[in-house]
Parts: sequence; structure tokens; C-alpha cells
Amino acid sequence: MISGQSSMERVYIGMGSNLAAPAEQLRGALKAMAQLPDSSLSGVSSFYVSDSLLPGQPRYTNAVAALDTALAPLALLDALQDIENGQGRERLERWGPRTLDLDILLFGDQLIDEPRLKTPHYHMQARAFVLYPLAELAPGITLADGRKLNELLADCPFEGLERLSG
Ligand code: ATP
Ligand code: MG
Ligand code: MG
Repeated sequence: MISGQSSMERVYIGMGSNLAAPAEQLRGALKAMAQLPDSSLSGVSSFYVSDSLLPGQPRYTNAVAALDTALAPLALLDALQDIENGQGRERLERWGPRTLDLDILLFGDQLIDEPRLKTPHYHMQARAFVLYPLAELAPGITLADGRKLNELLADCPFEGLERLSG
């Protein structure tokens, strides 16, 4: 049920976990996102396993979810951070190991540049664990800033990534 006058936006959310049964963490997050107000979960990529950005951490399990939402961008960010915190996310060091990370990759066609939220996500072009699952849900998409996903993929090798079946 949609309230207010805001229109629905298609949002892509990058998910990652490398602690406490990562695939279960992602499944828990999907369940929680499916229950967000004024929103519907409309797609989920395959799960992938990736090497961590920093050495010495367990490998990550990653996926991308598509959410159609009438929530405002910062309201969605708050809700996603509540889900992270609810699943035991602790922020001890930058890029430290985590039970759950939910990043807003794309918020419709909006270029957002707020202190707490920037979209498209600033580092997505360098992250195979974001681009390849995103391409399953949105093949051929053009980002709000004009970049084409296919061109970003061409510059980002599948290296260090493993697609899980099922
Ligand atoms: P990275 O941003 O490099 O993936 P991270 O996901 O580990 O690192 P977090 O600790 O989850 O970083 O988030 C740090 C801050 O980034 C958040 O408090 C949030 O306000 C801000 N932020 C800016 N843009 C975004 C975005 N597109 N999605 C999620 N958080 C964002
Ligand atoms: Mg992140
Ligand atoms: Mg994050």
C-alpha cells in the first residue's frame, strides 16, 4: 500500500556479509527488506562469493536486490541501517568484517550527493561483486550519471568472484 504522493523508484541494493553464516545473513536481510513499508522486493541476484577488499578477512557472500519503493532516499537508508544493526552490524574499522552491509547502489535515476548518501554508489565501478550480480537484474542499464553498466563490466574482471548455484 502506497501512502503519500511520492512515486515508486527502482532501487538496487548491494548486500554483503562475511561473518556469522553469511548466506543466512543475506537471506535474513531479504526477508526484512521484503517487509519494508511502501516497498516491494522485486528481484534478487544469485549469491556470489568474493575475496575481501582488505587482506586477512573471511571471504564475502554478496548479492544484489531490486526494491521498488516509495520511501524517500534517506528514509530508505535509515531503514537499511536498522536492518544492518538488527543483524548485529558493528562498525569497528573501515571495511572491517561485518555480519551485514546494505549499500544503495542506484536510487532510480537520481544523482544524490548528501553527506549521508551518495548514489550511484561511489565505488561500484571497481567492484565485481556489485557489477556482476547487478547485471543479472538490470542488464544493459545506464546509470543516472550516464555510464553504461556494460562498459563498467568490460573494465572490471570477474576475478576473485565465484557465482554460487541455486
Ligand atoms: P563502502 O561504502 O566503501 O562500501 P561500507 O559499506 O563498509 O563501505 P558503511 O560503514 O556501511 O561503509 O557506511 C558508511 C556510511 O556511508 C554510512 O553511514 C552512510 O551514511 C554512507 N553512505 C553514503 N552513500 C551510501 C550509499 N549509497 N549506500 C549506503 N551508505 C552510504
Ligand atoms: Mg559497502
Ligand atoms: Mg555500507
